[in-house]
Amino acid sequence: MDQPTPQPDPSGSEAQPVVCARCGTQSPGGAPPTWTCSVENGTREYFCVECARANLRAIEGRLDSSWW
Ligand SMILES: [Zn+2]
Repeated sequence: MDQPTPQPDPSGSEAQPVVCARCGTQSPGGAPPTWTCSVENGTREYFCVECARANLRAIEGRLDSSWW
């Protein structure tokens, strides 16, 4: 049986693999548009959708508590 295994060709691809800074989820084809990129201390950090959402909630929670 022939198995069509999709293998990204490293030659000629500019996309660099990114790893979620929080949960470690890997995206070999570069950061998806749904991911969040934040620069901290000159280092780019990526967060996957779920972690970005969790971060948002944490930030909103902080804002909320500071509003009171
Ligand atoms: Zn994540």
